[in-house]
Amino acid sequence: MTLLVLLGAPGAGKGTQAAVLRDRLGIPHIATGDLFRAAIREATPVGLEARTYMDAGQLVPDGVTIRMLEERLARPDAANGAILDGFPRTAVQAAALDSFLAGRGSQVDAALLIDVPPDALIERLSGRWICQSAGHPYHVSMKLPAVPGICDLDGSPLVQRADDQPQTIRARLVSQLDDLNAVVEHYRATGALRTVDGLRPIDAVSAGLLDVLEAGTAGAA
Ligand SMILES: [Zn+2]
Repeated sequence: MTLLVLLGAPGAGKGTQAAVLRDRLGIPHIATGDLFRAAIREATPVGLEARTYMDAGQLVPDGVTIRMLEERLARPDAANGAILDGFPRTAVQAAALDSFLAGRGSQVDAALLIDVPPDALIERLSGRWICQSAGHPYHVSMKLPAVPGICDLDGSPLVQRADDQPQTIRARLVSQLDDLNAVVEHYRATGALRTVDGLRPIDAVSAGLLDVLEAGTAGAA
C-alpha cells in the first residue's frame, strides 16, 4: 500500500497533478471536500456526525475526519494505496494522521510538495479578468483577448474583480502558506517530504513527481 500526501499552495496545480498520479499509479485521489460530501450523501455514521458540526457552523474535529478517511481507505479501490489531497492541512492534523496510520502498522510513504514561490502563485491567481458587460472570463497567461483589454465577444472593457486583485490574493495566501509550511516541516522531520519544482510546465512537474516516487518512498529518510 502506497499512501501519498499531495501538498501545494492554491494555484500550484495540485488538482491537475493529482489526476495524473491517480491514472499513472492506479490508486484513488481522495480530496477532503469530496470525502466529506460522499460521507454526508451516503449518510454513513461518521458522515452524519460530521454534518452536525457543519450544520452548527463549526469545524469538523480532526478525529471525525480521520474516521471518514479510515472508512474511505477500507474500500477495495484503495487496497493498493491512495493520494490524499487537502488533509492534513495543519501540523496538528499531520501528527494525528501519523498516529492513526501507526496504529495500523502503516505510514505516509511520501509527502509530495509541488513547490511554487509565493510571487508566482500571486501572478497565477491574479491573472483573471472579466468583461464588464457580460462577465466573459479571460486570463493573462491562459486566455488572452485578441485586442488587449477588450472582450472578444462584445467589445466591452475587461475589469478585475476585487477578489482577483493581487493585494487581496496576497493577504489570503499568507495564512494559507503558514499552515502549508508547518505541514511541510512536519514531513521534512519525518523524512517523507519529496519536493518537486512546480514552476515548470505541467508535463515536467508530472514527470518530476513520478521520478521522486520511483527513487524510493517507504523508509527512505
Ligand atoms: Zn464579454
